Amino acid sequence: MSELSPVSCQWDRCREEFPTRDELLLHITEEHIKPMKAMLKDDIIIMKKLDKAKCELDDISQSPSTPFTPVFITSFSFLDT
Ligand SMILES: [Zn+2]
Repeated sequence: MSELSPVSCQWDRCREEFPTRDELLLHITEEHIKPMKAMLKDDIIIMKKLDKAKCELDDISQSPSTPFTPVFITSFSFLDT
C-alpha cells in the first residue's frame, strides 16, 4: 500500500485528494457533474438562444462561433445510461 500516490481533483479549484482513481471519479461524478447536470437541461435552452444571438453577431464580425456548447453536452452524455 505504500506505493499508492493520492490523486487530486482538478475540477476548478477543488484540489481534494483521494487514495484511488475510482474514488476520485466518484467524487467528480457526485460532487461536480451531477449538480451541474441538474441545471443543464434548462441551460441548454438558454445556451441555444445565446448561440443564435451570437451567430447573428458573428455574421457581422466574422469571428468563429464558439463550439463550447455542443462539446460540453457530448462530454457528459455517458451519464445518461
Ligand atoms: Zn473535486
